[in-house]
Amino acid sequence: MKKMTADVIVVAAGLSGLAAAISAAENGASVIAFEKGNTTGGAANMGMGPLGVGSRFQRRNMISITPGEAFRKHMNFTHWRVDSRLVRDIYFKSGDTIDWLEDMGVEFLAVSKVYPVPEVLRAYATSEETWHVVRPADGSTEFAPRMAAAMMKRMTEKAADVGVEIQLNSPVKKLIKEAGKIVGVIAENKEGEQIEARAKAVILATGGAGDNPEMIRQLTGYEWGKNLFSFRIPGMHGDGLRMAWEVGAAKTEVIMELMYVVPDNLNHFIVDGAFRQPCLWVNALGQRFMNEDGIANTTFAGNAISTQPKGYVYAIFDTALLKRYKKNGPDITSHVHPHDMYDHFEEAVQADLEQGYEHVFVANSIEELAQKMGITPEQLQETVSDYNQLCAKGFDELFEKDRKYLQPISKGKFYACRYFPGAYGTLGGVKINHNIEVLTESSEVIPGLYAVGLDSCAIYGDSYPFILPGNTMGFAINSGRIAGENAARYAAE
Ligand SMILES: Cc1cc2nc3c(=O)[nH]c(=O)nc-3n(C[C@H](O)[C@H](O)[C@H](O)COP(=O)(O)OP(=O)(O)OC[C@H]3O[C@@H](n4cnc5c(N)ncnc54)[C@H](O)[C@@H]3O)c2cc1C
Repeated sequence: MKKMTADVIVVAAGLSGLAAAISAAENGASVIAFEKGNTTGGAANMGMGPLGVGSRFQRRNMISITPGEAFRKHMNFTHWRVDSRLVRDIYFKSGDTIDWLEDMGVEFLAVSKVYPVPEVLRAYATSEETWHVVRPADGSTEFAPRMAAAMMKRMTEKAADVGVEIQLNSPVKKLIKEAGKIVGVIAENKEGEQIEARAKAVILATGGAGDNPEMIRQLTGYEWGKNLFSFRIPGMHGDGLRMAWEVGAAKTEVIMELMYVVPDNLNHFIVDGAFRQPCLWVNALGQRFMNEDGIANTTFAGNAISTQPKGYVYAIFDTALLKRYKKNGPDITSHVHPHDMYDHFEEAVQADLEQGYEHVFVANSIEELAQKMGITPEQLQETVSDYNQLCAKGFDELFEKDRKYLQPISKGKFYACRYFPGAYGTLGGVKINHNIEVLTESSEVIPGLYAVGLDSCAIYGDSYPFILPGNTMGFAINSGRIAGENAARYAAE
């Protein structure tokens, strides 16, 4: 068995792992990071940017939210059911962390609020300007997925600059515990050779269990492929959770970072984006279930969809609305879907139908649409008639949807798609304190063990707080930084 030693071992080189590794090395520790994948950055390569409050970038842009305000907003959103001291420390660190990233060469493009749509209809309605969107390497200024990959590249270079040894293709299999302390890990390299790596402190940063349907079912009750179509970023098997629990860590509640999608959404992206409008939304019984302008908050919509019969819903519009979206643009602007998606809508729908995709529907009548969707035609007809009457009245007696979006569904062809709960990944599992140390059921520290990022992110209560966007990356990078500092100090002692 190969042997290695360091002051601090970081298990994974995704966002929280790289933050932890850089910060431990900057604080004087020798650091090895074992990464399961053949590249660094984890799910953060897919994202757009982290939260920060009180950064230089915000001050340059006249954004005045303070860490204290963000803390109070967060705690009120979660009804104070989460660790207030941990939440406080994350927000008060977060502005400085954006400056730290800038100092290592990461550039930011904007802090949210760049869309010419009414506040209430932004994808993240009522949100604060905390989401620091990374300037991508290709110089593009249009918001799109994967912008944060430039940050991950820069952080990887910085890790090398400060002496972090990154071992790719080397998953950690288990923790070594001796005399009650964590003193190292057993990893495996690409050749299948076992590595015993010893250290004074170990930081778990394995990104949760988003690619482990069985664990998702056990921990959250969702059944992947049935009532959940979350991203499955390869390799997120819940290894950190399992390894921490094996050495006596307490469990926290695990939730999904919920939103909504059409199944296999990245391959049906135009359909996925085009129906995210305050048109007519009904459940599997053909009944309305929310004020459709509320779908702008994807977390709330994901929650609402989860509570409906069969766990999915339909969005419906007609040819008149489609024409309107083509001419004037959508009512709700998406941060990530193509801006010209309505120009390609009919051809995308046609291609999906030809491929046998089961979650998009076109019909010449409401009755035919209902039949295709599997809803009783009379029920859908009744809902559409009632809804059209409300549109004529100009007032939504059922849910008080904003009257601007009371647009009748009357002119064939009729289009619909089926949305399910989706998610970016799992949140939480390993219990930590505000020093990011892992705790036992009796709230005692397991010496030498820290857990960061999605593995320990249990600060949201039941729902992701889109009111303070960039939050999971914000937690990942700040918990990572704090853990790196504390682990380096612990190792030096
Ligand atoms: C499409 C998409 C868009 C997103 N956009 C945003 C956004 O704009 N803003 C935001 O705040 N959040 C966003 N997120 C969420 C964000 O990406 C995550 O919150 C963040 O990456 C979590 O950091 P992490 O370090 O916990 O996990 P990751 O960054 O995913 O890193 C986990 C790492 O652990 C490695 N690993 C797993 N098991 C082992 C093992 N046994 N040994 C060694 N290594 C292991 C994995 O290979 C991976 O590299 C997005 C997520 C997705 C999927």
